[in-house]
Amino acid sequence: MKRQIVIAGNWKMHKTNSEAMQLANQVRIKTMDITKTQIVICPPFTALAPVYEVIGDSRIHLGAQNMFWEKEGAFTGEISAGMIKSTGADYVIIGHSERRQYFGESDETVNKKVKAALENGLKPIVCVGETLEEREANITLKVVSRQIRGAFADLSAEQMKKVIVAYEPVWAIGTGKTATPEQAQQVHQEIRQLLTEMFGSEIGEKMVIQYGGSVKPANAESLLSQPDIDGALVGGACLKADSFSDIIHIAEKLQ
Ligand code: PEP
Repeated sequence: MKRQIVIAGNWKMHKTNSEAMQLANQVRIKTMDITKTQIVICPPFTALAPVYEVIGDSRIHLGAQNMFWEKEGAFTGEISAGMIKSTGADYVIIGHSERRQYFGESDETVNKKVKAALENGLKPIVCVGETLEEREANITLKVVSRQIRGAFADLSAEQMKKVIVAYEPVWAIGTGKTATPEQAQQVHQEIRQLLTEMFGSEIGEKMVIQYGGSVKPANAESLLSQPDIDGALVGGACLKADSFSDIIHIAEKLQ
């Protein structure tokens, strides 16, 4: 069964509002011919509403890079799922390794965020992945399984239909090192098997599992051609409209 390819761009902490609007507009123009690939751009919180105006009724979807699980209250500096939804966004990245590494996110907080996102009509893109040390210690599967079980604890198969998983080996993020297509495929297959065990074969078959970690136009085709790789979460290469659009066009040709 072939799943729709989803290419998402994680802009991280880049772009002022005017720069963000300019980049979003370039991506919009360069992807006007796309009819099959799902495109998501994830600017910083501050640029969500202005970027939504720019992408208008194009097929580009908007996502945030993080959220807090509470609805509202005395949580200075935090942003709720409802607030994100009100900007026009319908996706949110949860549990990115940079959040786990620098901001103390755990499998438990990821789980709370996933639940709150779904309750508010946001589709979570949930990131999992091992560090270099963990890969070298041969515990990649153990780590990724723990992250998946933790992130999706107490969720139903129905809820899982709205979820995307992004496998992002930490050692490949922003380093220029990419997992080989075979290394990535192996982990994707294991993740799909685990999701099948947890939520049944329909979820296992339909779940979009993206790869992330130094995806570029030069390596996108070999990664996206793997049977269990259904898209990419792109960091560095999404900050230039040309390279992001090239990746999207490579995905489009594969469908
Ligand atoms: C990311 O931030 O999720 C990512 C994969 O970054 P990069 O493409 O720069 O490695």
